[in-house]
Amino acid sequence: MLLTSPQHLADAGLRERFHRRSLEHQRPLSTVTMAFTVVAFLCLVAARGLAGGAAAPLVYRLGCALVLALLVVAIPRTKSTWTFGAIGVAFSITLVVGLALNVAGAQQPLLWILPAMVVIPVCAAPLWLTPTHFFVGSALFYATAIGLLLGAPRTADVDIVVWMWVAAIGMPTAVVFHFGFYAFRRNHFLLEDQLAQLAATDPLTGLQNRRAFVAQAERRLADVARGGQVSAIFVDIDNFKSLNDRFGHAVGDLALRQVAQVLLDGTTHGDSVSRIGGEEFAVLSGEDLAGALRLAERLRGAIAALERPDGNLTASFGVAEHRGGENIMVLLDRADEALLRAKHSGRNRVCAERPLPDAPLQLLIEDACGAAGAAGSRHRWEDYYLTSHFQPLFSLSHQKQVGFEALLRGELDDGTLLPPAVLFAPKASSDEGVLDRASHAVHLANARASLPADGWLFLNILPATFVAEGYADELAGIVRRVGLAPGQVILEILESHGGSVDEMSRAAALYREHGFLIAVDDFGAGQSNLDRLLRIRPDIVKLDGELIRATGHGTGQPILPKLVSLLHQAGMLVVVEGVETTEELILAVESNVDFAQGYLLGRPAAEIAPPSSVHLRIDDAFDVIAQGRAHQYALFESVVEPYRVALLEAADALRAGAEMKCAFASLATFEHCVSCFILDDAGRQVGAEVPGPAWSKESASLHPVANPRDARWDHRPYYRNAVLLPGVAIASNPYLSLASGRPCIAVTLAVQFEKERSVIGVELDWSAQGLPWPAGE
Ligand code: GH3
Ligand code: MG
Ligand code: MG
Repeated sequence: MLLTSPQHLADAGLRERFHRRSLEHQRPLSTVTMAFTVVAFLCLVAARGLAGGAAAPLVYRLGCALVLALLVVAIPRTKSTWTFGAIGVAFSITLVVGLALNVAGAQQPLLWILPAMVVIPVCAAPLWLTPTHFFVGSALFYATAIGLLLGAPRTADVDIVVWMWVAAIGMPTAVVFHFGFYAFRRNHFLLEDQLAQLAATDPLTGLQNRRAFVAQAERRLADVARGGQVSAIFVDIDNFKSLNDRFGHAVGDLALRQVAQVLLDGTTHGDSVSRIGGEEFAVLSGEDLAGALRLAERLRGAIAALERPDGNLTASFGVAEHRGGENIMVLLDRADEALLRAKHSGRNRVCAERPLPDAPLQLLIEDACGAAGAAGSRHRWEDYYLTSHFQPLFSLSHQKQVGFEALLRGELDDGTLLPPAVLFAPKASSDEGVLDRASHAVHLANARASLPADGWLFLNILPATFVAEGYADELAGIVRRVGLAPGQVILEILESHGGSVDEMSRAAALYREHGFLIAVDDFGAGQSNLDRLLRIRPDIVKLDGELIRATGHGTGQPILPKLVSLLHQAGMLVVVEGVETTEELILAVESNVDFAQGYLLGRPAAEIAPPSSVHLRIDDAFDVIAQGRAHQYALFESVVEPYRVALLEAADALRAGAEMKCAFASLATFEHCVSCFILDDAGRQVGAEVPGPAWSKESASLHPVANPRDARWDHRPYYRNAVLLPGVAIASNPYLSLASGRPCIAVTLAVQFEKERSVIGVELDWSAQGLPWPAGE
């Protein structure tokens, strides 16, 4: 039974709310009723005019109508119950005065006024907000009416009828109407109030539920916007599931009620305490962060004193202070994030929100720029230190150390290194950017003293940081503050998400204006493609270490030389990273790479090391290559020479008038011969080619272009070179044969026949493992 007895209104606060709610309900109703009354009054004025004119001047009577109308207009604006009552009283008295003025001079004035005397108090009865207003208003109405009308001429029978109507019908009906409606409104209000409370309360603990908490918090944050502070404390009971699972839900429920009580006891009246869900609670307190942390610590201690069958109940806490403009959900999220850290770092503890990202960064930059600047200095960051390691880069041609790549390391208090997986653990993208910026300040501060004047410092930078508004100026400022020049710094854009290519190319121009050089890291991996490279136009390209080991499909030959040549043509210098073996160093030198970096040449170290004996190692690589090139050449020639000789013989035979098939008969038996052919002056094939032993291996993969008779070949180096040196059998570099899809070389010879010049040749299958490649390009 939800209806409550009147004593429920004994609470002054509740009565106050009931009256306010009644006012809200009554205002529109009263406005309409009173407006109708004004109309009825004007009808009476008109009727009185028809019935022979009143004793009182018309202007007085219309004046009353005007006062009534103004009171009607005031009703919707009333804010308090008392104003509402006062307007009601003023309205009734003005009405009575108006009625008296109208009926003055009538033969039977009481008869005129009889309906009004009965109907007005009855109609007004439900509209009075409280019994007090009702009694005062009605009494004043009758008192004024009697006072004014007693002196009017009247007959005894009318007198009796009027007073009988008023006393026997009007007054009792008004009382019944007023109290009937009053009781109805009160019960409706109590029901509404009770439902609202049920909807806002968690039935198990009696605390506010999430909805009510959020609604109240929003109101509170709106107030705080005008001054004051608020903090949110998020509480989650530890290992609560095991309590339920092992001892049953009744024990779990009891624990929830106990925790709720501890939270209520430990907080003040002004704090809101809520069960947000399952075993999670939230407290909104009017404290700053430090105060809320102290409160949370007290609550944590009090909960830890509660017992559960297998030990003590504990809870973890996350605390965040409200920041200007933030809504309750964001505040709770930040407290929740702190709670998560409390859980991860062992439970039964209080963690504070993360500080504003920029504050510690600015501190670190100040600290780094102000420090004396020895390499190896460490700078406080969250609960560890940041420091730099430097790995040298060498110019291969100069056999000299040209700079260092700075690598970020995290160190714990005792100097042990933080695993990179922890230091670079995925973070919210804003945090990631902050660590990136912090690393630049740390590296620059650590490099300032020992970076050689002619040495570069390579700084890794995330694309998102690179394109961040204003960062070019900020970084240039830090570089200058530590006493370096932007020209000594190469920004190595990491292969990662963030920043479109357009943004990066615009940003690159800003950095260049300051004098920074730009490098693109890890070309050939992930996001880093040729389009990105050509749009950013870096000064230097760092090749992904894997590219050193990459070989061409089918040929087994490294692709690095061609790639380097392509990048050089695009105007970019090339660094290979991850050089670990002498073979890789040799390949780097042979591929014409400009700079190299890797364990073979130098490991990352806390100090910027002076040049070591590495140049000797590079020199050795050059020697090996020089020897290798000579050897390679000899090997190549030894394979190709028999083909040259046989081709010259074929030329002689052709000149002597032999058929093509006969002329090439000997050459077409050689092991690697794919086919022998004759090309005319325009590079078109003359007659059918003469197939050799390697012909049968022909692949079908390039079928549409497999027939050499369809094509012109005068653009190929083997045709052009032969024409340049008539009479000399020329061997080409390996190329991918369009006819077979395999690497081939051609031996060609320009021959002057009687009528015309031709190029005769033989195509050799060069795909066999172990066949030598000509050294160099
Ligand atoms: P953690 O320390 O990581 O917070 O572990 P936990 O076990 O406390 O957290 P988890 O979220 O895994 O478990 C919460 C449990 O709370 C699961 C659910 O059965 C229980 N729970 C949620 N609401 C009620 C409830 O009203 N009464 C009872 N008895 N248990 C509840
Ligand atoms: Mg939980
Ligand atoms: Mg829990």
